[in-house]
Amino acid sequence: MNANLYALIENRNTDHERPFLIDAAGSTISYGELFTCARRYASAFAAAGLAPGDRVAVQTDKTVESVFLHWGALAAGCVYLPLNTAYTPAEVDYFLRDAEPAMLICRPEVRQHLEPHATAAGIKHVHTLGADETGSIVDLASQQPAGFDTIERRPDDLAALLYTSGTTGRSKGAMLTHGNLSSNALSLIETWRITDADRLLHALPIYHTHGLLVGLGTVALSGASLIYLPKFDPDQVLRRLPQATMMMGVPTFYSRLLAHPAFDRDTTAHMRVFISGSAPLSSQVHKDFQDRTGHAILERYGMTETGMNTSNPYDGERRPGTVGFPLPDVDVIVADPETGRPLPNGEPGSIEVRGPNVSAGYWRAPEKTKESFRDNGFFITGDLGHIDADGYVSIAGRDKDLIISGGLNVYPAEIEMAIDAIDGVAESAVIAAPHPDFGEVGVAVVVCQGGCAVKEPDIVNQLSQHLARFKLPKAIRFVDELPRNTMGKVQKNELRERYKSTFG
Ligand code: AMP
Repeated sequence: MNANLYALIENRNTDHERPFLIDAAGSTISYGELFTCARRYASAFAAAGLAPGDRVAVQTDKTVESVFLHWGALAAGCVYLPLNTAYTPAEVDYFLRDAEPAMLICRPEVRQHLEPHATAAGIKHVHTLGADETGSIVDLASQQPAGFDTIERRPDDLAALLYTSGTTGRSKGAMLTHGNLSSNALSLIETWRITDADRLLHALPIYHTHGLLVGLGTVALSGASLIYLPKFDPDQVLRRLPQATMMMGVPTFYSRLLAHPAFDRDTTAHMRVFISGSAPLSSQVHKDFQDRTGHAILERYGMTETGMNTSNPYDGERRPGTVGFPLPDVDVIVADPETGRPLPNGEPGSIEVRGPNVSAGYWRAPEKTKESFRDNGFFITGDLGHIDADGYVSIAGRDKDLIISGGLNVYPAEIEMAIDAIDGVAESAVIAAPHPDFGEVGVAVVVCQGGCAVKEPDIVNQLSQHLARFKLPKAIRFVDELPRNTMGKVQKNELRERYKSTFG
């Protein structure tokens, strides 16, 4: 059987009349239209001389055509390489040299800036696709026949090259196979009970695993449909929610919806599930959301290199502050970071995962790949956490965010949760700053709720009632907002840089 993800999508959607995508203007695209357009793109790639295994780099706005070309690239056996639109040409240069794509598709307005980089990287084909759904690649595809025999792929053939956000050193390309993508999407469909009656409100970017592989992948493999919005805009989301049954978002989507006075039980009455991931969802937002709407947000955990690993249960308790249980086909352990030996439940350690979802490693980085896997096949996620007595997994932060203060480990997530629970605090981030005595100590960066009434001694007093002395932050800094990337992740490297001289 052909393991090409695109073949699987076609096989699972034999009713071509069914709606696949409803765009921002309200027009509907059926599965039949999706397949015709995707095949035209596949024909266009083949006509341009692209061979299976060739990379197609795409830095475009979130358009409907970019969905077609994503699956068209897979149908042609090519490897899809999406790039964040925020990357400057100088940054894109690195990805082009590293991945050596056969084709680059970019926004028309940046073509002239990217072309010299494409030439330097030896790329023969540069095409455009604009926010208005037009461009040279659209023209090329529209001239192609809609008949295309999907290229045979094995489960371990590459489907996508997704670069990590690169907060430590250079960004690395995670090599995701057809088997990775289909197994993970099918596992999520089962876990979240997605059916063809579902309609997903899709406001995430599609250059990242969350919006691309989890969002589009689960919809297409279940025959469900999408309300496809170019970006997250709370007013627009509120207007469209009544037509949706599911939403996937990063935590900031949910806190921004809560900040909207019109967001209430009525707007969400017919919704089946709200799913959150990519960054920690605060217990307070979880609670406020449930109080306001009656829905318990379902939090899950994954990463570029592995797709999704764990999820809170669909039925059963969705426990705030946890990311739930391993997916049915994924093994998750918490191990001793040095030895990889599994630790007893409750003990903090390195979160490691194994399963058909885990990528084949890093592109052209065999050393980095080797370091990231244990001999028994477990992938070292770089996240720290623990598994509680009931089997729920909790994340305590990235290992590089761990604070080692006077030789003792301080897990930032524990301190952040304690600070966030203080009245008047909106959110916080705890980072390490160099210290002459202790090596490192924690600095808490705090955002207060509307006008800052909370003072440093209030926080210190309250924390000292709950936390051991060595865990207490040695400095507290108040800010208006935390620096975040588009996936809602707090940019701790930026904060570490900002506060590195706090203690001299
Ligand atoms: P990315 O590769 O951009 O998807 O980032 C993956 C990282 O995001 C993980 O390794 C975690 O550190 C973090 N992450 C993802 N989901 C969650 C979650 N539900 N709670 C806490 N951290 C998360």
